[in-house]
Amino acid sequence: MARTVESQKSKVKSQKYSLNVCHLYPDLMDTYGDKGNILAIQYRCKQRDIEVIYSPLTTNDKLLANHYDFFFFGGGQDKAQIAVAADLQKKKAALIKSIKSGAVLLSICGGYQLLQNHFKTISGKTIKGIGLFDAYTVGSTNRMIQNLAIEINPKLNNEIESIYQSSNVAMYQSNLIGFENHSGKTYLGSGAKPLGTVIKGSGNNGEDKTEGAIYKNAFGCYLHGSLLPKNPHFADFLITKALERRYGIVKLAPLDDTIEWQAHNSALKISNH
Ligand code: GLN
Repeated sequence: MARTVESQKSKVKSQKYSLNVCHLYPDLMDTYGDKGNILAIQYRCKQRDIEVIYSPLTTNDKLLANHYDFFFFGGGQDKAQIAVAADLQKKKAALIKSIKSGAVLLSICGGYQLLQNHFKTISGKTIKGIGLFDAYTVGSTNRMIQNLAIEINPKLNNEIESIYQSSNVAMYQSNLIGFENHSGKTYLGSGAKPLGTVIKGSGNNGEDKTEGAIYKNAFGCYLHGSLLPKNPHFADFLITKALERRYGIVKLAPLDDTIEWQAHNSALKISNH
């Protein structure tokens, strides 16, 4: 009996977190270092002994609903987006179900656009999206290409700040920095909140100062570059939210993010020139 209690205790002690990560269409949608977001998640989890089970899914692969804790969907050219969009319709129900039940999603540029209602390309083709974000995109003749700095949506920033544990909390900044390269201009509907407000760069459309979109734990943005290696606060926020889907309240062990914040600040400086 005593032995059973002991072995139960040690079971609890050694409970190891594990994260099911789904990378959507990595073979077709991966521009400007988007894969670095996956590497940052893997690195930050490894430092904390959190297991990452990485599953790349492409066209014709079946997406199981409620299996994954974290989805990543990178950017791509208009041509790749056309091929991916048709297949995405087959994954739509499972993906939306997963997000509704708390899964985390980070999408960048072309991936972000395909999760909206539609994307009308510059050549006049309308690509149907899956409507996860209440937004649409229209191709323009103006290519928005530069470093992009945004002030994080204040409500989201409060959440990120309360979650981020690091030996570098004093370096915390309520902004995100990345690199944008898109000709599509995105307009948000009333059902989508922006991820942030543009400090430098164009963001969603270069007109209304909004950048990105939020729906539950799903985030869309134009921040390539890679985003997560130089925005450690956002990386840890996403990991925490993804773990909490299955494990309840999670507190990540703090890491030394000196280099990450240096990279953040240096990109921020460049964007100001
Ligand atoms: N093809 C899209 C655009 O130009 C997305 C580009 C990208 O993902 N970088 O708007």
